Amino acid sequence: MVLLEAAQVGHGGSGRNVGLVNAGLWLPPDAVGARLGEGPGEALNATLAAAPDRVFDLIARHEIACEPQRAGTLHLAHAPTGLRDLRRRAEQARARGAPVTLLGADEAARRTGSARFHGALHDARAGTIQPLSYARGLARAAAGAGARIFEDSAVVAAEYHGGQWVLRTDGGKLRARRLLIATNAYHRPAEGTRLPDLPLVNFFQIATEPLGDNIGGDILPGGEGCWDTGTVMTSLRRDAGGRVILGGMGAGGQIHEGWARRKLAHLFPRLADAPLAHVWSGRIAMTGDHLPRILRLGPGGLAVFGYSGRGIAPGTVFGEAAARALLAGDETALPVPAVESHTEAMAALRTLGFEMAARMVHLVSARL
Ligand SMILES: Cc1cc2nc3c(=O)[nH]c(=O)nc-3n(C[C@H](O)[C@H](O)[C@H](O)COP(=O)(O)OP(=O)(O)OC[C@H]3O[C@@H](n4cnc5c(N)ncnc54)[C@H](O)[C@@H]3O)c2cc1C
Repeated sequence: MVLLEAAQVGHGGSGRNVGLVNAGLWLPPDAVGARLGEGPGEALNATLAAAPDRVFDLIARHEIACEPQRAGTLHLAHAPTGLRDLRRRAEQARARGAPVTLLGADEAARRTGSARFHGALHDARAGTIQPLSYARGLARAAAGAGARIFEDSAVVAAEYHGGQWVLRTDGGKLRARRLLIATNAYHRPAEGTRLPDLPLVNFFQIATEPLGDNIGGDILPGGEGCWDTGTVMTSLRRDAGGRVILGGMGAGGQIHEGWARRKLAHLFPRLADAPLAHVWSGRIAMTGDHLPRILRLGPGGLAVFGYSGRGIAPGTVFGEAAARALLAGDETALPVPAVESHTEAMAALRTLGFEMAARMVHLVSARL
C-alpha cells in the first residue's frame, strides 16, 4: 500500500478539526432514512452509531497518543428553539436504542460551567480526540504494517491504462491495481480524475493558554466535547492541557476572531481577557443533502468525500470500507452504494454564501 500525500499527513481537515468523534452524521437519523430509503438509511445509521467504537478501538490497538476521551458529547441548546430540536433528536436516537440523555438548563450549566445554554443532549457513544495526533498515529500504524507514505507528493494525473492505474506526481510515477482518493475538502485537481467541486464551509478555532483549575476547573469538568444548535454553530471543548478551544463558522480574520473573543467572554465572563495561544482554520466539504458519497472512478477506483462536518468517525469507517471493497472486488459492504457520478450545483457560490452568512452573523452579534 502506498499513500501519496500532497502536503503532510494531517494537513487537511483531519489535522484541523474540532475533535468530536460523533456517532452519526450532522443529519438526524430519521432524515438519513428519508433521504436514502429506510433499509439503506437504517444500515448507515447503525454503521455510524458504532463508528466511535472503531475509532477508539484503533486508538487503543495502535496506542495512538491523541488524548482520547470517551466522555460523550453535549449538543447544546443555544436558544429555546434549539431545545425543541434536541428533543426531536433525542426521540429519534432513543428509538434506535442510543444511550442519549436530554439535560435541562441547570445540568447543562453544571456540565459546561456556563449558564448560557437552555439544555443539552448528551450522547454517551461519542467522545473527543486530538485530531492531528490521531491522523499522525494512524499513519504511523499504517507504516508499521508495511504501508509506504510519501509526503509532499501531490498526484497531478491519474489514468487507468493497461489494467492498472498510473499516477503521476511532479517527481515520479506509480502504478497500482487499485486507487482510493480521499482528498475531500483539500482536493488538488489531478488530470484524469473527475471529482466534483464541493461547496466548502470554513470553520476556525481559538485556543486559550492552558488554564489552571482555579480559573478553568468548572469548565467541562467531565471532558465532553460540545457544539450548539445555532445554524452558524459554535463548538467548544477542553484539551488535555486544560486549554479551552472554541470554534465557529468562518475563515478566521478580524470579524470572526472578534466574535470568538466576545463569545468566549459571554460564555465564561472570567475568560474575557484570557490570552489566546492558537488560532487556526480549515475547510469542510459539504454535500447538498449532508450525506457522504462514494464515487466510482473506473475499474478498481473509488473516491470518498462529503462528510459535511462529520468526518472523524464516518471518515474512518468509510475509508476502511472503501479499501476493503477495492481489495475484495466486492462493494456489497460499502456504507452507501457507490455512484457513477456526483455533482453539486453552484459549489463556488454556495461556498461564498456560507462565508458571507457567517460573517454577517458574527458581525451583527456584537452583543451576544
Ligand atoms: C475546522 C474543522 C472542524 C471539523 N470538526 C469535526 C469534528 O469535530 N468531528 C468530525 O467528525 N469531523 C469534523 N470535521 C470534518 C473532518 O475533519 C473531515 O471530514 C475529515 O477530516 C476528512 O478526512 P479526509 O481524510 O477525507 O480528508 P483530509 O483530512 O482533508 O485529507 C485530505 C488530504 O488529501 C491531500 N491531497 C489533496 N489533494 C491531493 C492530491 N492531488 N494528491 C495527494 N494528496 C492530496 C491533502 O493535502 C490532505 O492532507 C471538521 C473539519 C474542519 C475543517
